[in-house]
Amino acid sequence: MPSRIFVNSENSWQSGEGILLSKDQKHYLQKVLRLRDSDPIEVVNKTTKQVFLANLVDTQSSASLLSEIKTPTTPGKLNLIFAFCKSDKNEIIIEKCTELGVDNFIIYQAKHSIAQLNENKIERLEKIAEAASCQSKRNSIPRILTAKNQSELKELMTEFANTESLSLIASLEAIKVPVPNNLINYPTMNVAVGPEGDFTSEEYQLFQELGFLPISLGQNILRAETAAIASIAYLNIQKSQCLAE
Ligand code: SAH
Repeated sequence: MPSRIFVNSENSWQSGEGILLSKDQKHYLQKVLRLRDSDPIEVVNKTTKQVFLANLVDTQSSASLLSEIKTPTTPGKLNLIFAFCKSDKNEIIIEKCTELGVDNFIIYQAKHSIAQLNENKIERLEKIAEAASCQSKRNSIPRILTAKNQSELKELMTEFANTESLSLIASLEAIKVPVPNNLINYPTMNVAVGPEGDFTSEEYQLFQELGFLPISLGQNILRAETAAIASIAYLNIQKSQCLAE
């Protein structure tokens, strides 16, 4: 199966067009994937989300579009709100949860977050999200948004958590509810996971006010990254099973 790359383009693509590739992409195709001219590749238009089968040309500095690949789009959005963790944990969460189908990551600077959010760290996470999207053959790269405090989180949540969405929080507090089994009914699903030191009771209260339902991820206490991956894997599988029925 050909490898997939994402390309910035303002315009809609047609078969027969040539697409210029960046230096980094050329390097990746040549040195990492060891591809040569006329080898097949899949290119995704970041703007229009079109996916094309293409051939590499001009010593891999461009791709010639052959035919459009029509891929089914999964309905609904899956969003993960997670507390900013120590560096490699954020990377694990972004990589694995991109593979598992998250559409929007909202990284929250929680009271108990050990590390401090900054632009450089986000840029690195964006690169990881793009690489994981190529690897898992997604048609789009998830967005990474940040909330530096509770009021920014509240503001962002007005876009994501509304009456049409199902919002869940992985909770270590005493009161929990069962995860609803009719996930297909919700066009948007949000799940929030706390930091290594857990959410404070004030933060749990805020999520409750935003309409998040507290759920358990099992009897054992999971690390933050395990909790994020486990909850997203669960929702992704449930959603695909609802769709298959
Ligand atoms: N240091 C804390 C654990 C924090 S775990 C302690 O030892 O108590 C980090 C986050 O993962 C939590 O904030 C929660 O959102 C989630 N989490 C971990 N295990 C969980 C479980 N069994 N059920 C629900 N959420 C869980």
